[in-house]
Amino acid sequence: MKTKRLLTISLLLCLVLSLALLAGCGCDHANVAYQFDEYTHKLVCLDCDKVVELAQDHQWEGTYCSVCKMGEEYTQGLEYELSSNEAYYSVVGRGTFEGQILNISPLYYGKPVQRIASSAFVQNFVITEATIPNTIDYIGEMAIDNCINLTKVTFAEGSQLSTIGRLAFAYNPNLTEITIPASVTDVKEAAFYSCQALTIYCEGTKSQGNPWHTQWNMDNRPVVWDCANNDKASDGNVYVIVDGVRYAISSGKAVVAVQTQGITSAHIPAKISYKGSKYDVTAIAPNAFQEGVQGDAWHLQQITFDDNSVIAKVGDNAFENCIELKQINLPNTVTSIGKCAFRHCWELQSFTIPPQVTELQSDVFASCYELTEITIPGTVTKIEPYAFFSCMSLKKINFVVTKGWVASGENPNTLQPEKITLMQSDVSNPETIAEWLLDGYKYLGYTLQLSN
Ligand SMILES: [Zn+2]
Ligand SMILES: [Zn+2]
Repeated sequence: MKTKRLLTISLLLCLVLSLALLAGCGCDHANVAYQFDEYTHKLVCLDCDKVVELAQDHQWEGTYCSVCKMGEEYTQGLEYELSSNEAYYSVVGRGTFEGQILNISPLYYGKPVQRIASSAFVQNFVITEATIPNTIDYIGEMAIDNCINLTKVTFAEGSQLSTIGRLAFAYNPNLTEITIPASVTDVKEAAFYSCQALTIYCEGTKSQGNPWHTQWNMDNRPVVWDCANNDKASDGNVYVIVDGVRYAISSGKAVVAVQTQGITSAHIPAKISYKGSKYDVTAIAPNAFQEGVQGDAWHLQQITFDDNSVIAKVGDNAFENCIELKQINLPNTVTSIGKCAFRHCWELQSFTIPPQVTELQSDVFASCYELTEITIPGTVTKIEPYAFFSCMSLKKINFVVTKGWVASGENPNTLQPEKITLMQSDVSNPETIAEWLLDGYKYLGYTLQLSN
């Protein structure tokens, strides 16, 4: 009885539909487009919203439907493998794909893509971005490992990811951030090992991370737990990138942090904005722009500062090995420059020591081969050993205060003790003083100090 009534209703509906289609509404359905869901597509009139062709199954061509083109935006040419129970696919390799933007499809021949197999994208030096669909529940060992140009990994919304395998994202030196979805229950050993630029954001809380492998974050990259509500990294800083420059915010102030991406030119504003608040940029962190440490090959050529900058401190090694940096005008507010801050800045041609600096620390300008002349302002009262070591072009060091300098320290150079006599309290001759200040051999172990 019930079936019969249903049948009648269906027939009636069909009749109404056909009549409507036949009778029309003055619309010739000239503009049509496919609408689709995961399984089917149907042709619909864009003008009158009528269904012109009823729903049919997709005609799968790998990741996309050859009729409605659903899925065409995903990366084509990857290599897949069907699971033994034929329920899902794994991405096993890059196949014929040679592009930079990897956007893995959630479906392949209509079945979900659930795994990224071990070593699927290992040593892919081309990809710069990877998007992982929400169907993936397992990322295998070394799956996206050693991809030196990879800067960004995105997990699609609604991720079902449960496991990140051993070394899965290791050795990606330019990967700056990754957000581990809340669904992840296991992160295996060294999953992000040697990603020296990386901050790891976790949607879950720290307690969720407890069952993960004890060495999941082997080299202690900064971790931000519960990142939707909290963006503070485990080292207490909030890391932000503003106009290409990375800063660390803490205690209401910003510091230019260790840079993690290649920068050839940078401007440091007096303040940066983050989430509606403004923060004074007060320092340049140790190693901030230091090059060559991680085998990187990017060269800072230019750096400028706002006129009203309040930067007070330049950290140790901050610009070490910036071999293409020709000029830098530090803000006048700088009072302290750390040791080795400009060591090996081979092309640095001139440098004005800011007027409030009190000390030149050891090796600060060592091996600045192009530096020809420098003036030591009256505020400087101490010059540590090797400050100008091996500055081969340096011919003139002008002291504003020329009398009262005392050399102290131990000279291990016992073979040529006469060199010690070059230490003198009068530094009024720029050429003579340059000669022995830049030569660490003569100046070994000595600190030059202004005695009041
Ligand atoms: Zn129409
Ligand atoms: Zn289709």
